[in-house]
Amino acid sequence: MSNLALQSEGSRSTDCPACPGKPVLERIEARTAEIGEGFTIRRAVPNRQRRMVGAWCFLDHAGPADYGPGKGLHVGPHPHIGLQTFTWLIEGEVMHRDSLGFEQVIRPGQVNLMTAGRGIVHAEDSATDDPGRLHAAQLWIALPNAERQRAPGFHHYRELPIIESGGFRVTVLAGTAFRRIAPAEVFSPLVGLDITALRAAQLAAPLNPGFEHAALTLSGEVEVEGERLTPGTLLYLGSAREQLSLRCGAPARLMLIGGEPFKEEILLWWNFVARTQEEMVKATADWNAGRYFGEVKGSPSPRLAPPDPAGNRKGSRK
Ligand code: MN
Repeated sequence: MSNLALQSEGSRSTDCPACPGKPVLERIEARTAEIGEGFTIRRAVPNRQRRMVGAWCFLDHAGPADYGPGKGLHVGPHPHIGLQTFTWLIEGEVMHRDSLGFEQVIRPGQVNLMTAGRGIVHAEDSATDDPGRLHAAQLWIALPNAERQRAPGFHHYRELPIIESGGFRVTVLAGTAFRRIAPAEVFSPLVGLDITALRAAQLAAPLNPGFEHAALTLSGEVEVEGERLTPGTLLYLGSAREQLSLRCGAPARLMLIGGEPFKEEILLWWNFVARTQEEMVKATADWNAGRYFGEVKGSPSPRLAPPDPAGNRKGSRK
């Protein structure tokens, strides 16, 4: 997806406190935004309190939304640099198309991982004319300096490790958990889990104490370390935790993300992750001039324009 709706000023990772190096419980309200045709997303990361959780620098919880015939998600061609986009689909079907020529439908239980590296363009559209219900999470992972100029790439992961524990079904989306390793290729130590209960469930989930973590409920209600969490609130957990207490009394779904605190300062603006304003200006100019990034073929949606970096809001937002 595209960072269409929110701030036009850049977000600097050092604007926020660093990982406290100890367990904390910070409740952070996600901001809601509409990205067209009544499709609401809740942006949990970045936020004023926490710009990153490990290398995870962006987390949109999209939907659930019910589309009528002829409607659907349509995020037209737009560029990315310096990050990986990580899409986890819960309900619906979305077609990914990119400037490398990949066309891939993602279905529930699958991950699309696009590595922008030095530059890529993609579009995401509902896969059919009668899309029905859509529910997804899209995350971005900042690439470390040593990897951010790498060649772009795309991978689709159809099967992921699943563990049943304490009445929860844990899908390892990224990294390692319960001694199972997700196939997604990432470039810094991190973890991403989907933790779903079909009924009442209770679990002490083992954590890497060297990571900072955060939890976001995607449906229902989950008690995380005694904090009741419903969709729309991110619970930042700090670091130095050996395990995490999870409990629910009814069907629910939680996303847990974590990673080694990211040492490098990043600059996030529109769909770009970089280090300097000059890089942002160059990427924006290249995109606006139709050069450098390549093009996406086959998307029914119009190409997206960046917001005005000066903060002038008219015209550029959708
Ligand atoms: Mn995107």
